[in-house]
Amino acid sequence: MANITFPSSSSSSSSLDNPVVSAASSSSGAPEDAFEDGCSICLEPFTTADPATITSCKHEYHLHCILEWSQRSEECPICCQFVILKDPASQGLLAAV
Ligand SMILES: [Zn+2]
Ligand SMILES: [Zn+2]
Repeated sequence: MANITFPSSSSSSSSLDNPVVSAASSSSGAPEDAFEDGCSICLEPFTTADPATITSCKHEYHLHCILEWSQRSEECPICCQFVILKDPASQGLLAAV
């Protein structure tokens, strides 16, 4: 008979199991950050049909809104910087106004 000798580890298994670790999946409760999520010109939210166009000053407007705005002012309604659109095609429209 082979006598298997276990290394007598004296590490007693202490009770390390935490009962319930909650608060890991709380997907509800969207923060009321709708301020950043809409067009500052018409105050309407952006949609897929009416998406946001971002300017060089990192502000977002509807394309038609910023085009209309640019007919009156060349400055961003929020930060008063000269409006340049990130999207070259949109900027082409803007320059053509
Ligand atoms: Zn708008
Ligand atoms: Zn701006």
